[in-house]
Amino acid sequence: MAQDAASGVGSASSLTLPGIGPRSLEKLAAAGIRELSDLWFHLPLRYEDRTRLTAIDQLMHGSPAQCLGRVAQVERGFRFRPQLRVAIVDESGLNLTLRFFHFRGSQAQQFVVGRRVLAFGEPRGGLIGFEMVHPSYRLLGDDEDVVLGEALDPVYPAVAGVGPATLRRWIDAALQRLDEHALREWVSAELLPDAMRGSIARALHTVHRPPRDADVHALRTGTHPAQRRLQFEELLAHQLSLLLQRAHARSRGAPALDAGGVLAQRLLRSLPFTLTAAQRRVVDELGADLRRDVPMLRLVQGDVGSGKTIVAALAAAQAIEGGFQVALVAPTEILAEQHAKSFRDWFSPLGVEVAWLSGKVKGAARKAALGAIERGDCSMAVGTHALFQGEVRFDRLGLVIVDEQHRFGVHQRLSLRDKGRSGERLPHQMVMTATPIPRTLAMAAYADLDVSRIDELPPGRTPVRTSVIGMSRREEVMQRIRGACAAGTQAYWVCTLIDDSEEVRAQAAETTFRDLCAVLEPLRVALVHGRLKPAEKQATMDAFRAGAVDVLVATTVIEVGVDVPNASLMVIENAERLGLSQLHQLRGRVGRGAAASDCVLLYQGPLSEAGKARLQIMRETQDGFVIAEQDLALRGPGELLGTRQTGLAQMRIADLMRDADLLDGVAAAASSIVEQDPEAGQALIRRWIGQAVRYADV
Ligand code: ADP
Ligand code: MG
Repeated sequence: MAQDAASGVGSASSLTLPGIGPRSLEKLAAAGIRELSDLWFHLPLRYEDRTRLTAIDQLMHGSPAQCLGRVAQVERGFRFRPQLRVAIVDESGLNLTLRFFHFRGSQAQQFVVGRRVLAFGEPRGGLIGFEMVHPSYRLLGDDEDVVLGEALDPVYPAVAGVGPATLRRWIDAALQRLDEHALREWVSAELLPDAMRGSIARALHTVHRPPRDADVHALRTGTHPAQRRLQFEELLAHQLSLLLQRAHARSRGAPALDAGGVLAQRLLRSLPFTLTAAQRRVVDELGADLRRDVPMLRLVQGDVGSGKTIVAALAAAQAIEGGFQVALVAPTEILAEQHAKSFRDWFSPLGVEVAWLSGKVKGAARKAALGAIERGDCSMAVGTHALFQGEVRFDRLGLVIVDEQHRFGVHQRLSLRDKGRSGERLPHQMVMTATPIPRTLAMAAYADLDVSRIDELPPGRTPVRTSVIGMSRREEVMQRIRGACAAGTQAYWVCTLIDDSEEVRAQAAETTFRDLCAVLEPLRVALVHGRLKPAEKQATMDAFRAGAVDVLVATTVIEVGVDVPNASLMVIENAERLGLSQLHQLRGRVGRGAAASDCVLLYQGPLSEAGKARLQIMRETQDGFVIAEQDLALRGPGELLGTRQTGLAQMRIADLMRDADLLDGVAAAASSIVEQDPEAGQALIRRWIGQAVRYADV
């Protein structure tokens, strides 16, 4: 039987635990837990430490703690919504407020002044000392002993409709059935790093129910050997799934696009510049891929301003000449719009129709675009993620191009690819990114892609001079703007308010806009933000491009891709709020023409250490690679890769940044398994990723 359980399928592992009825099974299944082994691999997100008490005067903002005190005051109020506030006081003499928004009357009545309360929660600093919102708590009798936890308490990812205590009980029951032989070791010992030779079952026991003497610090920081063992396997499973997707795609056919290259030649001749050597090399690499009858899966990486768009256009020309359609997707409306314009400028003189589609294209225009795409009247479709939608059908899609690919999820990319399936054939795929990803990380995130690099900027670019200036010297900055505009160039002013609401961001930009209009008079100032209608946005961008606007005030909507070579000054307000990649992208909007360009990073003091470090790096280097590595060190891979990237963000226990040292071993193990033991590969993917991932395009 142990063999059956090993693979995670079969009768021995089906979910039959005492106390789990059919209703509960449904709830578990909805969370992807269908088998015993799924419960074993439902791993704690983190741990809570109830093994000790913290005095109220020792609490730290944001750092969960357990306090013991007596009720000093109880208040039931209705500010905005009903709430209950219980102040407790301990021997330190300070108060801690426990705040509840959901509570029953009976619960409120339990809190009697003088009663002892043991509370666990995350303290937040408020005006009147610390408070905990919805702490877990227990009321204690006067002589009742305080029972502290013996080991760390695991906190599990929630399962809808199942309380944490119940879930924990079920996992306990599941663990009873997890002995040393219950789980097959799919990774042979010689593929594992030295410190990880223990069994996977033992690692699971330790991670679910840390023994009393376990290293608390290691567990809380995710560096305990048992955790490392599991992290290794999870990273391996993700790597295997990417390799498998790749192998699967490769086993399909693709149209061999080999029509002689006349269209691309004509496009090249119409350009006002010649390609750089790096662009030529990448165009050749893409060309060779496209001529084969195997689907291309290629990532083109090139720093901001390296000229990726024309490279994409040349690949598109090859596909179009071969009789196929091309789809180009960009992550923002403004960028997609700009691409549509560039491609029209390039292709219309060659007699190639370009269709434009975004979510905001409605009515007759939408119908016309959809019709042209479906009938094959237009060979090129440019748009936002609206191109991913079901109603968009292509006649003969041969090449999919995704710009700034880190802004999209892997699934979106796959859904567009699926639109080009005809029978067994897949379209070719090209994805572009300006984010230079360090090697190990690229290995983990892009194992399914080949990589080309445009590692050279077009000639004649002068480096952007970057200065860091405090808000108090704003007037100096105004002088620089006047100077730049007097010299016939243009300026961006970026407002950086970080707020989830586009509305709030837009308002802040409006305020700055009115301000600048008054101060910079008679310069022509215009405003773009995410709340404007597409037509308004487009009109403003066109005016800026045409030189009819001197200063463009914008939210970070202009962050990626926008290309107006005559703009030579970039002012970023509150630059200390932005991450490095974002600053680098924004700065990349200038330095695109012949004029020497400047970037002014305006900051509001006092600066945090991290803020200071970021601005310093920006001043020192313009090398996207250095910046990305620093960004990785400061912020972790989620930001760098885009959080939705490849499902890596949803890992159960691994963390690409923290566990980066495992990646070399993971890559080696993955290729060995793919070659020698594909069955183990499948089993590991099932164990860790389960139904959550689509393998290729089934
Ligand atoms: P990115 O790689 O950031 O997407 P773009 O494709 O937007 O860069 O190109 C930036 C600018 O450089 C554009 O104005 C483009 O026309 C121009 N450009 C591209 N290639 C060359 C080249 N070989 N020589 C001169 N200018 C070029
Ligand atoms: Mg670009």
